[in-house]
Amino acid sequence: MFRTNAIDDRVRRTLVANLYTHPGTLFTGAANGIIAALIAASYSNVNVIFDTAVALSAIGALRVTMALALPWLVGRDTAWLERIYQLGAFSYCLVVGVLGGMTVEYDLPGPAQMLIICYAIGYGSGMSSRNAGRPAIAVWGMVLTFAPICIALWRQDDLATKALAVAIVIAFMGMMSIAFQIFRTLRDSVSAAETSARLAEKMQVLARTDVVTGLLNRAGLNHHLIEHLARWRKTSNIALFWFDLDKFKEVNDALGHQTGDRVLVEVAHRLRSQGKPDSVIGRFGGDEYILACEVRDRREAETIALTLLGEVSRPLRIDESRLEIACSMGIALYPHDGEDIETLMQGADLALYHAKVNGRNQASFFDPEMTRELVRRREIEAELRLAMERDELSIFFQPIIDLKTGKIRAFEALVRWFHPEKGELRPDEFIPVAEETGAIITLGNWITAQAARAAAQWPEDVTVAVNLSPLQIKAPGAALGILNALREARLPAHRLELEITETVLLDHSKQTDDFMAELSAAGVRFALDDFGTGYSSLGYINKYPFGKIKVDRSFVSGVNAGKKSEAIIRAVSEMALTLDMQIVAEGLETIEQVEAVRAAGCTLGQGYYFSRAVPDYLAAMLLAQEREKLNPQRAIG
Ligand code: C2E
Ligand code: CA
Ligand code: CA
Repeated sequence: MFRTNAIDDRVRRTLVANLYTHPGTLFTGAANGIIAALIAASYSNVNVIFDTAVALSAIGALRVTMALALPWLVGRDTAWLERIYQLGAFSYCLVVGVLGGMTVEYDLPGPAQMLIICYAIGYGSGMSSRNAGRPAIAVWGMVLTFAPICIALWRQDDLATKALAVAIVIAFMGMMSIAFQIFRTLRDSVSAAETSARLAEKMQVLARTDVVTGLLNRAGLNHHLIEHLARWRKTSNIALFWFDLDKFKEVNDALGHQTGDRVLVEVAHRLRSQGKPDSVIGRFGGDEYILACEVRDRREAETIALTLLGEVSRPLRIDESRLEIACSMGIALYPHDGEDIETLMQGADLALYHAKVNGRNQASFFDPEMTRELVRRREIEAELRLAMERDELSIFFQPIIDLKTGKIRAFEALVRWFHPEKGELRPDEFIPVAEETGAIITLGNWITAQAARAAAQWPEDVTVAVNLSPLQIKAPGAALGILNALREARLPAHRLELEITETVLLDHSKQTDDFMAELSAAGVRFALDDFGTGYSSLGYINKYPFGKIKVDRSFVSGVNAGKKSEAIIRAVSEMALTLDMQIVAEGLETIEQVEAVRAAGCTLGQGYYFSRAVPDYLAAMLLAQEREKLNPQRAIG
């Protein structure tokens, strides 16, 4: 009946701690008892009564001391605390009961008997409600207090005294039922509080976990990084690795989201198996992961980065297909690159961006220079739209020369930005920004229109070549925009040539096919630009209506130039001849280079040897000179 073991340990601990709280009540009870016992003892000269009163005082004082010392005892286990409390309570109760019984047995004067018995009943009931948290203590406490008194009362030959014994038993039963009722209420409310605390804890864990991979999610990463940094920072350096899977979107698009999710899970698994035991690992969202761990120095961070890169890009097998997923990584080090999580994350993110821009599948450490680079990019981004309105952009034209006759056959339109403060900006610096922000569409349309307008002034056999970015081709109504520009400039379609790079063709999109088909049906021509820098697949040359291949300048003057590239140019030229295509050599700077590419079979050439890109009036002048003298082998150098 007194078993309360069904409650679990945390609830039990709360209830036991409850026994020791409010030492004030314990103190009042004990003080009351000591005074009553000593006064009652003074009414008699029986030694044993006096000794019992002294024992009661000693136990009372000891219990108060224990309750006061609780803050130092909290580390002890619950069972020990409960046992000590029980021992004190029970012995006190027994001594109170025995003292009460003795005042009756030794027939002490009425007021003395009344004093102790009343105290005992009061104490017994008080203790039963005070100890309702542990009903066994409450019940046994009352039994020990009341039993000796009841027995002594019952033994008297007096009806009223016997009736008092019965009344005490009845009161005991009432108190017992009340104690149990209080216990149940107390237990239920404590366990309800416990359950909701545990539920809240569980919800918090869920809110910080990524459902797909089981790693931490963004919120979890934030929480754990802050927590770990506080712990780690005292002793060591910390490396924060930020990963991004290269071209994961393509896997998702081509193989479906389910396969995509499995790739994410596998990558998570690999990171977990490679990270140090105390690493914080999470998925930051999409195909980005973060891993942070302690490192001795930069060198160790580098070793870990290489291992992780190697591990993630190890081919993976999903069902029947074998996939290769490369990844890029940015790394920031604490305390070198930042002293708080936010700065470290910014650093790693910037470094990751750098790794991606530099060609992916690599890791790069944060460098303050990257911040400056980013600031410049941001400025360019902000100023580019204004630049168009303020007329800071213009189109320059670089001649493309027939290597047999030396005559200008075309001009390539190259955009220039004359910035009022930064001076002349190369397209390599702002075209990628325009591509990133989408501004390339407006900018590209403007370039095409300007180029077409200039070309309309040239002799009919001279064409104009315009570079197109992938995004321009995929924009809705792209082909129509170009045809409109031609119409407005009154330039026949066959005098426009569009230069596109292989990357445009890589994804085999229907948009690109339609774009090229529609424009080539209208008479527009196409040139494959920068040939030799990408995959250099000859398959594209057959599939698409290219009239020209532009061999990249690295084959002419770069580190690749030499016997091997000469052989490549020769092979491509031979093929072009059979397909009735033109081969343009780019970047010709010296007469030797011109001779070499001509010997290798190139039909057209472009480069500083002939002329740099020049404004439209100078382009028109070059053409006029050529027509007059018929010998413009070298124009402007
Ligand atoms: P690209 O299409 O390969 O253009 C040729 C680049 O090589 C031009 O640089 C040109 O000035 C440079 N070049 C020509 N001859 C020589 C030479 O003998 N030696 C050396 N070292 N370089 C030479 P630019 O004008 O800075 O353009 C760079 C790239 O920017 C272009 O490469 C093209 O991809 C892009 N671009 C330029 N204008 C436009 C444009 O209007 N639209 C788009 N979408 N891209 C453009
Ligand atoms: Ca070009
Ligand atoms: Ca080129």
